[in-house]
Amino acid sequence: MPIVEIDNITKKFGDVQVLNGISLSVERGQVIAIIGRSGSGKSTMLRCINGLEMINSGSIKVAGHTLTANGSGLIELRKDVGMVFQSYNLFPHLTVEENVMLSPRIVKKVPTEKARETAIKVLTQVGLDHRRDAYPEQLSGGQQQRVAIARSLAMEPQVMLFDEVTSALDPELTQEVLVVMEELARAGMTMLLVTHEMEFARNMADITVFMHEGKIWEAAPSEAFFASPQTPEARQFIGAGK
Ligand code: ADP
Ligand code: MG
Repeated sequence: MPIVEIDNITKKFGDVQVLNGISLSVERGQVIAIIGRSGSGKSTMLRCINGLEMINSGSIKVAGHTLTANGSGLIELRKDVGMVFQSYNLFPHLTVEENVMLSPRIVKKVPTEKARETAIKVLTQVGLDHRRDAYPEQLSGGQQQRVAIARSLAMEPQVMLFDEVTSALDPELTQEVLVVMEELARAGMTMLLVTHEMEFARNMADITVFMHEGKIWEAAPSEAFFASPQTPEARQFIGAGK
């Protein structure tokens, strides 16, 4: 049974139809890369999946929780979905460890010592266990983004969403974040990621989804997709090296 099932969702902002009937099934442990031009609806789709935006019609099912246009199922669904953005937004006055412990303690009421244990575990996962006591400003952008990933993992999500998490980083810092994502994928995490890193999509994603004008224009196993995109729009997009 798929862990994520998106069934014919639509989303409008005012008069603008931003998502135009999107359906997608994701199996547990799959990595899905979402690519496409700016404005094609990639971020909106991810934001709908974790309920940051309400859909106008259709349904989204994650790990057995169903979210519909009336907003039911939202709270349950959010607990199972982690999201990481381009801007990491760590709290500057909290240490790395405190940043990671915050949501489990506040949202899930996890006792402090248990939250610390989890923080150490997830910080080890992103290779930053030794920087637990540092403040965000003492870290590089790549390290801060890895802390943001750890912060999300600390909530023990079943699905992780990544929206252009390396777009603000220099190439060498991009690499260290991609390595963490690769390890997460290998460990079996279900992931949907919007990315401009075509090599990463090609090598790491099971399926690449090309979005165009609010629709899934093309979706295929990554190797096949990049070897021979079927639509002129996808060919042009890949050819442009974006
Ligand atoms: P992408 O991530 O592929 O660049 P987005 O999902 O961010 O695309 O945006 C898709 C379209 O929706 C764009 O035309 C954008 O201007 C519009 N849009 C996104 N968010 C909002 C919003 N909060 N209010 C109005 N329009 C929005
Ligand atoms: Mg976007």
